[in-house]
Amino acid sequence: MSSIDEVKSQIDIVDLVGESVQLKRSGKNYTGFCPFHPNTRTPAFVVFPDTGTWRCFGQCNEGGDIFGFVMKKEGWDFSETLRYLADRAGVQLRPQTPEQQQQAEEYDSLRNLLEDAVTFYRHNLLNTPAGKQALEYLMKKRELKEETLEAFGIGYAPQSWEAAMQHFLNKGYSENDLVEAGLVSEREDASMYDRFRNRVMFPIRDYRGRMSGFGARILNPDDVPKFLNSPQTVLFDKSRTLYGLDRARRAIREADQAVIVEGYLDVIALHQAGFENAISPMGTALTEQQLRMLKRFSPNILLALDADVAGDKATLRGLDIARQAMDREQEPVFDPRGLLGHEARLQADIRVTTLPDGLDPDDVVNRDPEEWRRIVQDAQPVVIYVMESLARDHDLDDPKVKRDIAAQVLPLIEDVGSPIERDAYRQRLARLLRVDERTLLGMRVVKGGRARRLRRGDTPKPAVSPAATSPAASSQLLEAHCLGVLMRLPDLLYKIDRELQEKELARLSADDFQHSGHQPIFRMVQESLNQDMAEPLTYMINHFDLSTMERVDELLKQTEELNSNQDKVLEDLLRGVLELRRRSLRQNIEYMRFLMEDAQEQGDLTASQYLKTMVQHSAALKRINEALGDYTGDRRLYTKKDVNSRPLL
Ligand SMILES: [Zn+2]
Repeated sequence: MSSIDEVKSQIDIVDLVGESVQLKRSGKNYTGFCPFHPNTRTPAFVVFPDTGTWRCFGQCNEGGDIFGFVMKKEGWDFSETLRYLADRAGVQLRPQTPEQQQQAEEYDSLRNLLEDAVTFYRHNLLNTPAGKQALEYLMKKRELKEETLEAFGIGYAPQSWEAAMQHFLNKGYSENDLVEAGLVSEREDASMYDRFRNRVMFPIRDYRGRMSGFGARILNPDDVPKFLNSPQTVLFDKSRTLYGLDRARRAIREADQAVIVEGYLDVIALHQAGFENAISPMGTALTEQQLRMLKRFSPNILLALDADVAGDKATLRGLDIARQAMDREQEPVFDPRGLLGHEARLQADIRVTTLPDGLDPDDVVNRDPEEWRRIVQDAQPVVIYVMESLARDHDLDDPKVKRDIAAQVLPLIEDVGSPIERDAYRQRLARLLRVDERTLLGMRVVKGGRARRLRRGDTPKPAVSPAATSPAASSQLLEAHCLGVLMRLPDLLYKIDRELQEKELARLSADDFQHSGHQPIFRMVQESLNQDMAEPLTYMINHFDLSTMERVDELLKQTEELNSNQDKVLEDLLRGVLELRRRSLRQNIEYMRFLMEDAQEQGDLTASQYLKTMVQHSAALKRINEALGDYTGDRRLYTKKDVNSRPLL
């Protein structure tokens, strides 16, 4: 019997579910109100003791066994749930290896050290003269109550280079423990000093409430940086941590919405005001891991941004540029392109709202909780939010402004997963800019310095037209195919490059792949060829991050059955690559044409520059078409249809 079966046989599902759901017997089964969706009228939740399962016949329409129930209720993953239920059932799980056991013990002892640090910093906040000013700041300036400070374990790190270190060394911890926990830093001469000095300390816990690190805010306005987190440690990884999630997760599930604010103090103020579904990233843009974690509690994610984040910084300078221009310490919290990618991949609903100018969430809730509720309600989908922030305070009668806004918003619209939404956004953009929607459709999109044409397939088709694959979707499939082949047969990359160079074409590069998820995969193929530690494919699989793995799996699945004739595969791959380039060049040319016409209309002298680029692109396109002709055996197939019927100049 597996330990899973053993746990199942030991735990009565009616007992387990009955702890949180009031169950009534109904024949051999039990019914109650589903704990996972709001319902008070008809009990749609049924527990079947015979099979040890449950099911909600209402809104959720989902069911499972005891594991599924606990996972859903607590938001835990399977292994955590197994450990919890095994413990409860008194079932001994497969013993850990000595290494695992040792590691678990080490982590536990680091967590204990961090818990002791919480106590130490709290003591300094509450019982020392120096802590007084910190306490005053928190209670008077930030209007936080004593119970709130206690609930969040807020403390104060004294103004000293070694107070914390001495305290913990005296308690028997080693210097090494202190380094591992991120509490002290090392000087060049290997001596140690307290990392946090004269700062308000925010304990950071994982979503299960276990200590993982600290965030620290200055009290003296001259100190830098304003916020300082623990360094990366075995317990603290800021890309996988959300501040306050341990306290917010229940509320997030109940409200079916997570609200993301920028600062730890904002989170705390919102919780104090009763908005307990608030959390905060660690001063960086949201990562996919963070969103993935959140999605276990709710797919509805809302970002409440300070007015200047999207407003000033993102205005017509271009979001990407704004992002690069910011210094590294202040990574932007708002990254629309990244968010849209996450939204599509995770099937989440991400919305954005802005706080009144100059106010933080805590200012807002402290003066009027209703106002906060309104701000949350006003949240908009990412694309619309960007559109409107860009349009605000600009003269929309100025054709140049219109062009700039369109050039920034169209690539975002392209990133949206659903064609219906894309259409709706485009209509909205056309209305906002007061241009004909067809003008927008004719407009080309620049992305990462490369040009892309809008997806033609996005225009509504007559109902009778067969469900043809849109060009964009087919390019994506083609990219996927080429990448899948390259992952399976990475050596083909050398051959492809040789063939391309023989035809005076550039080697294959990450830029040949436009789908944002594909570029890192291609780079990994290259990397795998530049190492000799492992077989390339093994190397790749071991080095992809989790978020890429899903895509990689798909690509590998799609290329499971390759022709056994390698020459054929090579030819096929080369044709695919050339076809991708051909499409991309055509988009480039069309985009240049748009820019040129636009510039000519306005008497802009750069028109001739665009013309020159267009001529260069056209020459490259001609070479590609010729190369493709070599492979199709019918040169006219491409040249005639694509070059002649669509005048390039
Ligand atoms: Zn339900």
